[in-house]
Amino acid sequence: MEKVDVIVVGGGLAGLSAAYGLAQAGLEVMVLERGDYPGAKNVTGGRLYTSVVRDLYPELWEGAPFERAVTREAISMLADGRMATFEIAAEEFGGRRPQSFTVVRAKLDQYLAERTGEAGGMVIPKMKVDALLTEGGSEASGAGGGPGASGADGGPGASGRVIGIRAGEDEIGADVVVVAEGVLGLLSSEAGLRERPAAADTALGYKEVIELPASVIEDRWHLNPGEGAAQLFMGSVTKGMMGGAFLYTNRESISLGIVVGMEQLRSRPDELESWQLLDELKTSPAVAPLIKGGEVIEYSAHAVAEGGIAKVPRLLGDGYVMVGDAAGLSLNALITVRGMDFAIASGYHAAQAIAAAKAAGDTSAAGLAGYERALRESFVLKDLQTAAKVPALLENQRLFTHYPEAVTKLMADIFTIGPGPTEKLSKTGFGGVRRSFLNLATAKDALSFRKI
Ligand SMILES: Cc1cc2nc3c(=O)[nH]c(=O)nc-3n(C[C@H](O)[C@H](O)[C@H](O)COP(=O)(O)OP(=O)(O)OC[C@H]3O[C@@H](n4cnc5c(N)ncnc54)[C@H](O)[C@@H]3O)c2cc1C
Repeated sequence: MEKVDVIVVGGGLAGLSAAYGLAQAGLEVMVLERGDYPGAKNVTGGRLYTSVVRDLYPELWEGAPFERAVTREAISMLADGRMATFEIAAEEFGGRRPQSFTVVRAKLDQYLAERTGEAGGMVIPKMKVDALLTEGGSEASGAGGGPGASGADGGPGASGRVIGIRAGEDEIGADVVVVAEGVLGLLSSEAGLRERPAAADTALGYKEVIELPASVIEDRWHLNPGEGAAQLFMGSVTKGMMGGAFLYTNRESISLGIVVGMEQLRSRPDELESWQLLDELKTSPAVAPLIKGGEVIEYSAHAVAEGGIAKVPRLLGDGYVMVGDAAGLSLNALITVRGMDFAIASGYHAAQAIAAAKAAGDTSAAGLAGYERALRESFVLKDLQTAAKVPALLENQRLFTHYPEAVTKLMADIFTIGPGPTEKLSKTGFGGVRRSFLNLATAKDALSFRKI
């Protein structure tokens, strides 16, 4: 069997970030990507927090094909024909080192693939991996490590050491396989490295890219040239289901999409589809004027890992490491959605740990354990741990029904001058707060909000 130092399964941000570091370390690394090119199949909302990954591979980000630096943030609550928007524009979001940029994956992933190639790595598109090979010649399934970021204390369950991959008729061996196949984890769950993601821990994202001239985008979102906006929508947009919509401004397009809990969508009696929710949002008075005149140039759908740290599987074993979405490293914290920064950082730390393990001549779980240690010390597992209670909080339906309804109603009442005499502003305000926010249910919610 042909053999290389490292095989990376999946040329998304996690896999490419690992491959770039491994190539830089002088290892023979091969990325196998099933798409026509890296990024061809990859979907994101569209904002990468560079603040946390800037110091990893600093040379990469200067020339990266980012779209716009996000300088304006808005969150809009929608209910019954009303929208209340809270917006912040802060100098510290932008400047010389913006905290985040909007991105288009087809461009960003290809850029990383090119840099990986220049560093000496091999990126092979149109190559679908069919199975992970384990010691003893098997592609067998096994018990695997349980969820919960368990310790780096063993291999892939009953399957034995991971020794390579099979793609069609070809088998290729490797000292280490980097599993970067993304959220569904088909190969890794089949090989017993993780559990198959449950619908309850997964959301469905549906997104359109709508082309608009740069000057129109800057006018509509009050932006200086090169600056960008991020807007989230919650409330009636998901018809009571967990989730929300997002809008990011790119250079000459808008990324507009919706993310909704997979289990809740699946169990609806009316067979509603996520694209129908987005269609309704697009024609709503809140969004229609923003996208007026724009042309849809792309649409896509993708799963999103929402299980949080409790669903992070064992991160490594004999001969393999798991990175990015394949390892459940993603965080929807309602007002921030993150996964790309975790993908890049996990790829980076995997590369460092694999290079060290190779240098020490030990690519067993014990030899690769530095990967998990580094992730635990980095923002990746720390932030997931901090947000450990967020997935449970998002199951609270009132977040998507009662609060948007109550907030928009209160705001509308405050701004309404009726035909009769107007009551004191304090009476309208406090009356609304008392009616909607001071009861047993909201008190219980306040207690649970304190935990996040
Ligand atoms: C709608 C939506 C909105 C999001 N919004 C944001 C956001 O605004 N900010 C943010 O940071 N994160 C966001 N995320 C999450 C983020 O996109 C992911 O966390 C990130 O893409 C994970 O990168 P990855 O490299 O681990 O996986 P992926 O990008 O999914 O890459 C996996 C790669 O593996 C390849 N592959 C899979 N199976 C095989 C196989 N058998 N053989 C060969 N290749 C294979 C795939 O083709 C793909 O290229 C969003 C996600 C969605 C779906």
